[in-house]
Amino acid sequence: MDLSHDACVRWLRETDAERLKPLYREADAVRAREVGDDVHLRGLVELSNHCARLCGYCGLRADRDSLTRYRMSTEEVLDCVRNAAAFGYGTVVLQAGEDYGLTQAWVTDLIRQIKSETDLAVTLSLGERPDDDLRVWKEASADRYLLRFETSNRALYDRIHPPLGETQSDRLAILRHLRTLGYEVGSGVMIGIPGQSFDDLADDLALFRELDLDMIGVGPFILHPETPAAAFPPLGDGEQVPATEEMAYKMIALARLLCPKANIPSTTAIATLNKATGRELGLQRGANVVMPNLTPPKYRALYQIYPAKACLDETAEECRSCMRGRIHSIGRHVGRGRGDSPNRQRPDRPA
Ligand code: SAH
Repeated sequence: MDLSHDACVRWLRETDAERLKPLYREADAVRAREVGDDVHLRGLVELSNHCARLCGYCGLRADRDSLTRYRMSTEEVLDCVRNAAAFGYGTVVLQAGEDYGLTQAWVTDLIRQIKSETDLAVTLSLGERPDDDLRVWKEASADRYLLRFETSNRALYDRIHPPLGETQSDRLAILRHLRTLGYEVGSGVMIGIPGQSFDDLADDLALFRELDLDMIGVGPFILHPETPAAAFPPLGDGEQVPATEEMAYKMIALARLLCPKANIPSTTAIATLNKATGRELGLQRGANVVMPNLTPPKYRALYQIYPAKACLDETAEECRSCMRGRIHSIGRHVGRGRGDSPNRQRPDRPA
């Protein structure tokens, strides 16, 4: 299949369900051939909703005084981790706002405790932390790091993601550094950010491939009304990418074709737009991972990146059985073990 920039733009602009079928069919076939029928479960723990940043799109941004902030204790996190192990998950994902109250030492100690008690892979998603934190956490046996570059359009990125103090935000540099440290590296984008064009999305796809990502997470942009994004102007003349579930499926399918061995989740943002079948449709159009939520219900509603998130009022146990049911309903299997990235294990992968 032609996967040039222009061909990607044509697919991304296609809205006819019949004409999209071959794209989805091919993505599903490549998914089956390259990463198999297993769907890996990554248990998500939302450690803290404190954040130092002022991202224009995110409900955790530092200046939202109306949001009650929380930071989980080590014991609370370990309870979630024990749940993950008991549920048979292979990975825990520790995610938070960019919270420097989660100190290097605290996170290091947490990783060590998880590794001493369980065989789980540990994925970190803690924002743009200093190189030294990333190095020390890798030495403490963290396995993977997720940091979306959000958009490859530098001007748009700068508009929605202001720097912290004097330091220019350079997520691409951090992603390359993570790779040299030996992490499995995950990134991704939001789809339908006001000001984002179809060409931008095709550039995002090319960058996924150039970065040789092990994990790729994409989801529709969902407006949080109490963020500056509410006032961001959309592009005119049919150039603005709509923030729809269909756009997200097209991005998943194209990401699968361009990066055949990457682990690709069917994300919560997609499930938020289509609670009935969004997860399944993502899995049938190229995705092979889901991230059931393990965050204690009392904190979940406070991890308000965007409103009305899927799985908001479920317990960890309910989230688990819901995900398993969805996976089985489409004839797939729940993956066993850690579900390490087949991309990382590619024989021809450059060092
Ligand atoms: N502080 C960490 C984790 C952020 S939450 C970090 O910045 O990496 C993880 C992802 O949620 C973000 O990378 C972003 O892509 C997504 N996100 C944030 N706000 C969103 C919104 N309004 N709609 C959709 N996705 C959003």
